[in-house]
Amino acid sequence: MTFYPGPSKVYPQVAQFMQDAFAEGMLSINHRSSECMEITCGAIDGLHQKLNIPSDYHVYFVSSATEVWEIIAQSLTRQKSLHYYNGAFGEKWADYAEKLVSIIERIPFDINKLPDLQNITNFNDVVCITQNETSNGTQIKDLKPLRKTFPEAIIAIDATSSLGGIALDFKDGDVWFASVQKCLGLPAGMAIMICSPKAIERAEQINDRKFYNSLLFIHENFQKFQTHYTPNVLCIYLINRIMLNISHISIISENTKQRAKKWYDFLEHKGMKCLVQNPEIRSDTVITIQGTEEEINEIKALTKSHGITVGNGYGSWKNTTLRIANFPAIENIEIEALIKLLR
Ligand SMILES: *Cc1c(COP(=O)(O)O)cnc(C)c1O
Repeated sequence: MTFYPGPSKVYPQVAQFMQDAFAEGMLSINHRSSECMEITCGAIDGLHQKLNIPSDYHVYFVSSATEVWEIIAQSLTRQKSLHYYNGAFGEKWADYAEKLVSIIERIPFDINKLPDLQNITNFNDVVCITQNETSNGTQIKDLKPLRKTFPEAIIAIDATSSLGGIALDFKDGDVWFASVQKCLGLPAGMAIMICSPKAIERAEQINDRKFYNSLLFIHENFQKFQTHYTPNVLCIYLINRIMLNISHISIISENTKQRAKKWYDFLEHKGMKCLVQNPEIRSDTVITIQGTEEEINEIKALTKSHGITVGNGYGSWKNTTLRIANFPAIENIEIEALIKLLR
């Protein structure tokens, strides 16, 4: 039983779907074949429908969320990107961008506060923000203020540990992305990148074509439901099948939020400390418990002896926190078992 926040538990249906993929010969198809174009088209349709992605937003498959950080720096940034972050993933994104972009500005913020959007006006390049910071279990519920502050900018949102788990308002951003091994409940090795028409317009203005993964090159291939490289066909197949199988995100989201509330209520009742004090900023999909090193080690030893994996702390909170994924592939009986043990 695993509550690791990535790679995380895959949907149980994946077992059968993988067998089907093999039996149907999907694992050996050519990536330029009509069969492959069909499953790519189906997977994209399924994502649009089940995740409620606006019909004019484009969906691409790339290798990882890390790759999307690079694509944004290469193909969507003219001169400068702003990086709002309060944790390790947002910071890492800034580190990657720094190697490729002329100027980056880092705007760190406190884990118990929302980012301060004042003091910057007329910025029209790229704004980067992590919707759900997997390293510390914080989230930014409302991204509208960002769009309001930067109406001309491209707003890029890392939703790796929330996309597929909670409903997101895609119109609040221009680039959204997530690798599949977190909230989407699939085996690692692929990521989904979602772009608004404005993002594609910006890519056309910049006209970067220097890299194998330049956005325009990706975009042109996807117009034919093809990829710019030989893709993870099995994962595309699995997305196709899973999207037909799961509930609409409005239902999943409701369930995720109810379960998160149950977790936070339990922790409070039990007198266990959350790393994030401000309830408005606590993540619905990654619950982070804080304690002394001894307390954390004790919980880890206890869960391990019962065959349950919980997530280690991350970055500067490595030894004094542990993280529990609240992803849709995790079943209620599993949560009950962990809660019973912790109780
Ligand atoms: C896991 C994670 C990433 C990195 O994903 P990869 O698939 O390893 O590239 C990036 N951002 C966030 C918020 C994550 O949780």
